[in-house]
Parts: sequence; structure tokens; C-alpha cells
Amino acid sequence: MTDLTSLTLAEARDGLAKKSFTSLELTDAHLAAMERARALNAYVLETPERARAMASEADARIAKGEGGRLNGLPLGIKDLFATEGVRTTACSKILGDFKPPYESTVTSQLWRDGAVMLGKLNNDEFAMGSSNETSCFGPVINPWRRAGSDTKLVPGGSSGGSASAVAAGLCLGATATDTGGSIRQPAAFTGTVGIKPTYGRCSRWGIVAFASSLDQAGPIARTVRDTAILMRSMAGHDPKDTTSVDRPVPDYEAAIGKSVKGMKIGIPREYRLDGMPAEIEKLWAQGADWLKAAGAELVEVSLPHTKYALPAYYIVAPAEASSNLARYDGVRYGMRVEGRNIVEMYENTRAKGFGAEVRRRIMIGTYVLSAGYYDAYYLRAQKVRTLIKKDFEDCYAAGINAILTPATPSAAFGIGEKTGADPIEMYLNDIFTVTVNMAGLPGIAVPAGKDAQGLPLGLQLIGRPFDEETLVSLGEVIEQAAGRFTPERWW
Ligand code: GLN
Repeated sequence: MTDLTSLTLAEARDGLAKKSFTSLELTDAHLAAMERARALNAYVLETPERARAMASEADARIAKGEGGRLNGLPLGIKDLFATEGVRTTACSKILGDFKPPYESTVTSQLWRDGAVMLGKLNNDEFAMGSSNETSCFGPVINPWRRAGSDTKLVPGGSSGGSASAVAAGLCLGATATDTGGSIRQPAAFTGTVGIKPTYGRCSRWGIVAFASSLDQAGPIARTVRDTAILMRSMAGHDPKDTTSVDRPVPDYEAAIGKSVKGMKIGIPREYRLDGMPAEIEKLWAQGADWLKAAGAELVEVSLPHTKYALPAYYIVAPAEASSNLARYDGVRYGMRVEGRNIVEMYENTRAKGFGAEVRRRIMIGTYVLSAGYYDAYYLRAQKVRTLIKKDFEDCYAAGINAILTPATPSAAFGIGEKTGADPIEMYLNDIFTVTVNMAGLPGIAVPAGKDAQGLPLGLQLIGRPFDEETLVSLGEVIEQAAGRFTPERWW
């Protein structure tokens, strides 16, 4: 039998339907792969008993000719999603052993459709980071290595566990979240596909909040088709999240193979950065050529406020985070460090419970929201945000269907290479991705090539609001041309 962990989600789905194997066999193969891959630190909690029970139920449904769209397919869940009765920590010490008495809407929809939970995946603490080095469970290792080197590389972040697990065959697909690039950047660093849907497409209910006006859930998987399949189950209106949007969920998979002839693809001038590696330039031009060969028309466009996106993001996101994280006070969740009085207890708990990057964000956020500074920072950043959004609206009003950019300014870097004194070095990773969150738009990252050291590189496509289908169609054109990316097993 072929290695069940090397199948795509769609292949596994079809294999189950044909009864080539059972969900229990598929699940056991993944559980064994997870055990062999502990050195990658992708999972922070494995749930084998639950997984096998869910798989057996899925097999029973298959035997009766029943079962939903994801019936019997084993998935990994980012530890930011609340899972009922299963430890959920956002990879922060402050949540301790918190076991939510509720299930996030997104994950409950996956279980509704029959999926199997393998465990909880590592991420940056409260999803703050671009390398998965801020997790209280330690860094995740990228299954990719530079040619001829055993230097450990980061998988990107914050959904580093999701990306690493998908790339290494430790699940068929994973949930992830994207506040400033956390689905697309790790996908690009690991040769996987990630979609950040339009803000409001997936419910945020039951997802640990980072920056509520930017946070959005989405899938990471090995192919564009697989992300399309997962997104259909994850998306949908939820009365428990007032920002979720009430519009029908399309069959995203049907967009695979749809002609992109005549589509207008924007190439934004402002994304051509000074000092951008030649390989990224080349990759971008190659992507444009592939889309052109498929019948699309390439048009140079301008997004003039791009240069303000990163600074504005690093005001808005910490501001919202400082407010969202006020709830971790030693009373309601997990950890408590006693003090002589209640104020000291709050202080001790928060000082011990949060890691350095989270503390930095809370301090910046509190500062930019404080009286006297609010207008100069927060209000101004919100105005910039409106202008960034308008840049995209102008493009789309001029007939552009989607915008093509690099996903990241470099390939995966080494553990510890960017955690020095200057946090901006790390923040610069998000330069091509944050604009999309600021504007609330959908974006997909698709592997498109390799750098000189053999590491995968990704391209990003940015779509019109709620037009994820076009991203699926265009993304698949790139995938078909670039081929699949699988790391060589060393772990
Ligand atoms: N890297 C960005 C940050 O640190 C984005 C993180 C995310 O999208 N969750 O804020």
C-alpha cells in the first residue's frame, strides 16, 4: 500500500470513498508519522484516542453510506482554536492547562463534516510572530533544510506548527489563522498552500483573539484543491460572531480548472522593494508569465500607501491585542501567581504568564491607546488603513481581478537568526502580507519555486472581497506550472 501520509486530502477522500483503506488506517498512519516527527515540535498536544474514536465513527458512517464532506480525514488544529475538553493554550503559559467548555465554530464545522482531530498544533504565543519562536512550547522546526546543511530553519509563523505538520505529512490539512500573514508566510516557507479568506468569511467565535479587526481563520494544505475543500467547511455565517458575513458559501473546489482567460492581474509597483533578492524578482516574473500563458492579462498597478502598511499594522494590531489580552488576569483562565493583594496578583500573573514578545505588544498597544497619544498613533493608523483599503478598491474598480506579489521577501531563515535586539527585522517578514489584512481582503500563498539553496518560495495572489474562487482558479494555474514541493525526510 502507498504511504497514506503522502496522499493529498482529495486523494485520501477519494480513497475512503472507494474503500481502498479505512479512516482508522489513515488515522493510524498519521499518528505513527507524528510519533516519528516529534523533533519538529509541530504538535503541542497529540490526541490519539480521540482521533481513533473519531475515525471509527467515520468508518461506521462510510459502512452505512453516510458521512459529510470531510468524513474520516485526519486534520491538525492550531492551538488558537478552542476545542471542547481538550487543552487550548494559544501556546502561552498564561492559559496553563485551560480546557475550554466550548468548541470554536470553525472546528465544530469540521467535525460536523466528519473530520478527525489528530491534535493541537504549535504556534507563536497568541499568534504574535513570524517564525514560531515565541511559543511557550519552544520553536517549531521546518522540515525543509538548505542543500547540504543541517541548520534548523523556522517554518514561519504564527501558524508554524500547521505549516510544518502539513509539509511533513503529519496531517492532511490544518487550521490556521492570519492577522498579518500567519497563514500565507508559513505556507510560503514550507512549500504548502495557505488561504486567508476575506474578513468575515469564517467565524472568529472560539478562536483566541489577537487583533479582532484583522484576525481570520483559514486552511493550510498541500494543494490548492485541498485548501478549497477545507475552506468550504470552515466558512459560513455564525450568529455568535457579529463580524461574520451572511452570504452563501460557494463550492470552492469547483473553481479548480476554471479558465482564467481574460482576467486582469495587477502587478503592484510598490512591492518591488530595494534590495529584494534577485530570486524573488525572478519568481515573481515567472509567476506572471505562467498566468499570461494561461490567458490572463498582466497590468502594472499602483498601491501608493503600501509603505505605510507595516508601521500602521504594528500600531493597530498591538492596540487591539492590549485590549483583548486584558482578560488574562489570573482569575478566569489557567495560570495564577499569588500576590499580597489583588493588584499584585494581577501583576505577578501577567509578568510571569506572558512571554517577552507578548509583553512588548501589550506595552506598545497600551501606549498608542493612551490619552494624549491616541490621536497621534491609533487614530492616524486607522486613517492610513482606510487609505490602504482604498488603494485596492481603486484597482478593483479599474477592472483588476486579482493582484500578484511575492508572498515573502526571503525563504525560510535559521532559528535564532532574526530574534536579535531589533524586532523590526522580524516584522519585515510581513511586508507583503499585512496590507491584505488591513484591507480585509482574501489572499492565497502558493509555492512557486525554490531559492538557490533549494528552499521553497511562494507567490501571493490577492483577491476582491469574497472572491476566493478566483484565487483558487489562479492559484491552481501556478501550482500546475510549478509542481508540488515535498521536503526530503531527515527526521
Ligand atoms: N507576524 C505578524 C505579527 O507578528 C502576523 C501574525 C499573525 O498573522 N498572527 O503580528
